[in-house]
Amino acid sequence: MTAPPKPRPETLAAQALGWIDAETKAIVPAIHPATTYLRDPDNRYRSGRSYSRDDNPTYDQAEALLAALEGGAAALLFGSGMAAATAVFQALRPGDHVVAPKVMYWALRNWLTTFATGWGLDVSLVDTDRLDDVRAAMRPGRTRLVWIETPANPTWVVTDIAAVAEIAHAAGARLAVDSTVATPVLTRPLALGADIVMHSATKYLNGHSDVMAGALVAKVADESWARIAALRAQLGGILGPFEAWLLLRGMRTLFPRVDAASRGALAIAEHFARHPAIERVLYPGLPDDPGHAVAKKQMQGGFGGMLSIRIKGGEAAAVGVAAGVEIWKPATSLGGVESLIEHRASVEGPGSPAPPDLLRLSVGLEHVADLIADLDAALTAALASTRDAAV
Ligand code: PLP
Repeated sequence: MTAPPKPRPETLAAQALGWIDAETKAIVPAIHPATTYLRDPDNRYRSGRSYSRDDNPTYDQAEALLAALEGGAAALLFGSGMAAATAVFQALRPGDHVVAPKVMYWALRNWLTTFATGWGLDVSLVDTDRLDDVRAAMRPGRTRLVWIETPANPTWVVTDIAAVAEIAHAAGARLAVDSTVATPVLTRPLALGADIVMHSATKYLNGHSDVMAGALVAKVADESWARIAALRAQLGGILGPFEAWLLLRGMRTLFPRVDAASRGALAIAEHFARHPAIERVLYPGLPDDPGHAVAKKQMQGGFGGMLSIRIKGGEAAAVGVAAGVEIWKPATSLGGVESLIEHRASVEGPGSPAPPDLLRLSVGLEHVADLIADLDAALTAALASTRDAAV
């Protein structure tokens, strides 16, 4: 008899690893709101659980599924993407050197250059898509971590994961990848040499704009991973059990959602690439995008649901377009079923690498023709008012 084929990632996600409750035969896991667990009569905790700041059974299936999708040894859920990301840095020691991107999720960059630096980390910000710059920033013996985000907020710069992993490892450092935008549907950083993958699970993993969550996945569950797990329990950056349950529910539809968002984003990028009101479309799926070649190499099945457009007429015109749409929702965040549009420089403030004329688009699951028509109408109105202002 031939062995049944190994289920593909799509199947693992849809069935949440095929989980069935042994006692009730339920095909959906229960929520465990308990904060505390019974001791055995001999004073031990054979269940492995004592208090829900350490761990919660509701996390188990979501962590196991994410570890399987990323090809990692272990995963940890956190109360937000920021809680997950900062745990990686907080597990380092004062005096350690880290290399991180100039273009990355702005709140983490701000935390690195303020709190983390004040606490004792030595942080170098470089353009991680320029491998010579990454190489030059390494301080062998002192650089403990290289952090990258690809594609990176909000210009969708693509960093070569395999190449940076080689540079990091040659200097004795580990590589962590914020893969929030790529998701395990499109990119598997651990297979490309990364040591840790981070997700703002608030975005695509949950996918419905109704849960704040974060996650880390490790290639090996070594001593530094144990420090991260201990930090989660000590600092208490944990996820509520109901949110963990919702997150698993969201992850079951991850593949079709990311697939549809990627196809929508590509159609929108192609449509607006030559629009008279647009200076430039930033999307790694476009053949003339500077990151396209690397994206093609490390992203499979699409280039993601995120793109940005730079509006002719500058900041005022861009803000006008964001205010002029009806189907797109002018709001922050990304990766949900509804499409969002945002003037990024207003959010990030002074020092942001986001050009003032840039609008970030998170493509959801609406009909792409509706999204194109809505944005087209707002752009045409903005173009007309720019022309009026010029005469
Ligand atoms: N990483 C990326 C790429 C993000 O877009 C975000 C949030 O927007 C974060 C990390 C932080 O995640 P959270 O908002 O869940 O803390």
